[in-house]
Amino acid sequence: MKRILRRQIIYAMGTSSKPVIYVNPGETLRIETEDCFSHQLIKATDSFDECVDFSKVNPASGPVFINGTSPGDTLKVFIKKIELDKQGVTVAIKDLGVLGHKVKNSQVEIIPIESDAIMFAGQKLPRRPMIGVIGVAPAEGEVPNSTPGDHGGNMDTLDVSPGNYIYLPVFVNGAYFAIGDIHATMGNGEVCGTGVECRAEVELTIDICTEYDWKIPVIETGDSFYFVGSADTMDHAVEKATNEAVMFLERTNRIPWNTAYMLASLSADVIVSQAVNPLKTARIRIPKSCLNI
Ligand code: CA
Ligand code: ZN
Repeated sequence: MKRILRRQIIYAMGTSSKPVIYVNPGETLRIETEDCFSHQLIKATDSFDECVDFSKVNPASGPVFINGTSPGDTLKVFIKKIELDKQGVTVAIKDLGVLGHKVKNSQVEIIPIESDAIMFAGQKLPRRPMIGVIGVAPAEGEVPNSTPGDHGGNMDTLDVSPGNYIYLPVFVNGAYFAIGDIHATMGNGEVCGTGVECRAEVELTIDICTEYDWKIPVIETGDSFYFVGSADTMDHAVEKATNEAVMFLERTNRIPWNTAYMLASLSADVIVSQAVNPLKTARIRIPKSCLNI
């Protein structure tokens, strides 16, 4: 199996870095990922302000060139496996997260990642491995890995997890796919700005989708599709996700747009993905039980 090493990283999604690997559609890759702080915080005594060089935050492994893909295609990526490191880190720092203005002193917590659960503040948390940053090059220029968008990026969406598919629109030849920022667990919203940030090894299969041509990232689980919208405000993120989902209902069920809009209102859940990145991300869940497929 082809492998990407932990040092083969980029800090922005785009085409300015040479691909580190070329794969054919249908190939499975094993990707080593760095944690979002580039492993600059590894001991309980590490001070955030002293240890973290911000130019090394949010690395993603890649880019991967997918042979035969061109603008207008949609990638279909199956997340087979996420193997987590033995420890991760969470921080509370000034001006990060929805209450960053209330943080007086930075705090770094190194958290052991046990096989079945994660202990923090005396509480047993479920292990929920997920990929925070996953995306492709945008049509023009570069998007820093801190920022989500129609190309994917820092969506911090819980359902980007093992057993699920993520679909991404392709904007450039070869797609220039990259991933990073794995979390051992987090809650929807990621309110303090971090999950349990850790190194990982991820196995995924990259294919070209023949059934759909999405304009924004979409996640498919066993029972649902999640349309993922990122925008300058949460309102706009919800609007973007809902717009794509309602058009999908209209097309798939062959019903008038108004009917699709109402069906979405009666059946779909809007969920905050992250409320803390430069653009905000929300997703809307369409249950497969409401689709004529
Ligand atoms: Ca993130
Ligand atoms: Zn993260």
